[in-house]
Amino acid sequence: MATMQRTMEQAMDRDEMEEGSNCPMPTQDITLNLKNRAKAITSAAYGPENPKLPNRAFWAKKADAWDVSERDAKTSLCGNCAAFNVSDDMKECIAKGIGMDADPWGTIRLADLGYCEIFDFKCSASRTCSAWVVGGPNTGEQEGEMEEGEMEEVEMEEVEGEDD
Ligand code: SF4
Repeated sequence: MATMQRTMEQAMDRDEMEEGSNCPMPTQDITLNLKNRAKAITSAAYGPENPKLPNRAFWAKKADAWDVSERDAKTSLCGNCAAFNVSDDMKECIAKGIGMDADPWGTIRLADLGYCEIFDFKCSASRTCSAWVVGGPNTGEQEGEMEEGEMEEVEMEEVEGEDD
């Protein structure tokens, strides 16, 4: 397993905010979102693809990477990651990007969507990645939560690379 030590800025192409709004571009541009999601998959093993399945191999790798039991590994999800932004403003951005023709709020609720401030893409609360950060989610309401953009400066240390 490769160990990566690099800054978020080095890890990701920096996205820009949508012109004239406070929404990150990946929330409005599905191609950019998919590009960043692919980076999260290749560099930090974001997954599993279908969280409703047992995904034993996936969780075994995560447990190995974090040096914890598989049971404990399964408790570290996007849904409780400090990089997972589920503020009302961000959900508005996600809904706007999905488009009002597609029942955006139903989609957000069913997929339990938020925005990953590290890899800059819409992610699901029931997934995880090797860059998981304790203390989330970021609801935008609690003191001490990282402001949008601050997470980009967090240094990725000891992110255990995986092949899937
Ligand atoms: S950094 Fe956190 S929110 Fe982003 S994909 Fe990884 S676990 Fe999910």
